[in-house]
Amino acid sequence: MTDLEISLSVPPKPIRDIAAKLNIPEDLLEYYGTNKAKLPLSLIDPKKISQGKLVLVTAITPTPAGEGKTTVSIGLGDGLNHIGKKAMTVIREPSLGPVFGIKGGAAGGGRSQVIPMVDINLHFTGDFSAVEKANNLLAALIDNNIQAKQGNLGIDPRTVLWKRCMDMNDRALRNIISGLGGKAGGVPREAGFNITAASEIMAILCLSQDIEDLQQRCGQIYIGDTFEGKPVYARDLKAEGAMAVLLKDAIKPNLVQTLEGNPAIIHGGPFANIAQGTNTVLGTKMGLSLADYVVTEAGFGADLGAEKFLNIKCRAAGLSPSAIVLVATIRALKYHGGKPLNELTLEDTAALKAGLPNLERHLSSLKSFGLPVVVAINNFDRDTEAEKRLLIEHCEALGVPVAISNGWAEGGKGCEALARKVAEAAEGCTATFTPTYALEDSPRQKMEKICRTIYGAENVILSNVASRQLRRFEDLGYGNLPVCMAKTQKSLSDDEKKLGRPENFDIHIRELEIATGAGFIIPIAGNILRMPGLPSSPASERISIDREGTISGLF
Ligand code: ADP
Ligand code: MG
Repeated sequence: MTDLEISLSVPPKPIRDIAAKLNIPEDLLEYYGTNKAKLPLSLIDPKKISQGKLVLVTAITPTPAGEGKTTVSIGLGDGLNHIGKKAMTVIREPSLGPVFGIKGGAAGGGRSQVIPMVDINLHFTGDFSAVEKANNLLAALIDNNIQAKQGNLGIDPRTVLWKRCMDMNDRALRNIISGLGGKAGGVPREAGFNITAASEIMAILCLSQDIEDLQQRCGQIYIGDTFEGKPVYARDLKAEGAMAVLLKDAIKPNLVQTLEGNPAIIHGGPFANIAQGTNTVLGTKMGLSLADYVVTEAGFGADLGAEKFLNIKCRAAGLSPSAIVLVATIRALKYHGGKPLNELTLEDTAALKAGLPNLERHLSSLKSFGLPVVVAINNFDRDTEAEKRLLIEHCEALGVPVAISNGWAEGGKGCEALARKVAEAAEGCTATFTPTYALEDSPRQKMEKICRTIYGAENVILSNVASRQLRRFEDLGYGNLPVCMAKTQKSLSDDEKKLGRPENFDIHIRELEIATGAGFIIPIAGNILRMPGLPSSPASERISIDREGTISGLF
């Protein structure tokens, strides 16, 4: 059965019943249909947050298909419930880019899914649309001001950094000329689009503590310079109030359920290669207020998602996980060991062995945070006993707890062993995490510390453009912001072809961006793009709907 068929075979329970399990009074639910509800921020309880156990799920360097972090996160949440813990999974909302592109949705897989899967993967509760509108309102205000006779701030159109956004893989919008059509059509300028998941508004939504904080952050967005070289902020355009109003509902976490009827929160959706890649701070805090265990995911490999989850999100929100789960798959390890993508289903212990240094590198990177790590082997049908034995023995030799995750095939029951190991690690954890860098470090030191400690790189090399931009950001007083690295997810290095555990490499920073509202500097390594394109055979070609409204092809 496909993921879609499995998800449609389980009728969702009324969301009011799911909320009742969390003792949420029914009159506090804001219904979106019968299976989805938004939760008011008044349910967040600071006392409960510090008592709850936060479990971060991350992964080794993935193959293009993804290694199953979402699937393991949902399975582990269900697994913790199976062993008697009050647990919920708190993860990001899918982006339509991957849904119609190559990677697919982000509602889990097999028996470990959140439902209603189709809604979650498409428009859901409209949060992405709200982010897009707030983002594009600011863009419209900028162009309107450039055109305006009155109140013209003197913005130099060539310096405008703010891009429009759309939740679609559409490479044709990456670089455009806007403002064509003569005098009435605005001032022509070079412009472009980011995918919504990579927009600063999405980052702001995910890092905000409340609606006032969100409004203030919107005002702090740096959009470009005047002809005299003075920085211009969104507040100079009086944009932040209307932007925050557009986001008033998007800021509230969304409650749904897993296939097993356990509560889950799906909220916020930034990518981890080009943004901070983790659900909202408010979603996480909501989860910790309502349950004893919160399982959450940070996107792509641990070099991207986990690093940013800890150094950016947890630091800003005052959170610290009690355990980290590193998802490994036998197929990805064989891939790192040199086996081609189309042969990963064939047994090959030699390739598996050759791929283990990738796992080891992620383990040692994660150790630098000082938190307990558990390896979860996401079990695929084609993994053989010999391969599994080899991987388990290797983890045991390294002294790392390891468990097979069978959540995809069996749901929570298949994750009981993993749940026990994770609960043991989390309950034994009294530490808070050690950040990779201090906020007082210079941006260059921050980049160096991340590149050396987490990627295993030698040096960070800035292009002339990047050096100039960095000097400008420091002059503007932003040297103390954390850095949010934009780098390929396909390698620990910035070269997607370097698989396994690359050695003796430098990280090349092509250019920098800054997100003064979200609060980070974005060094862009290698060729990473903030507006992806579709593949030659996009998933959308296989999606359709019939007279009864039954959808097919959505994975
Ligand atoms: P990630 O969150 O790491 O990107 P996902 O959990 O979204 O990965 O999984 C990616 C895809 O792989 C999904 O389509 C999912 O159904 C599938 N998948 C995950 N785990 C398994 C498994 N153990 N067996 C088969 N397919 C799986
Ligand atoms: Mg995922």
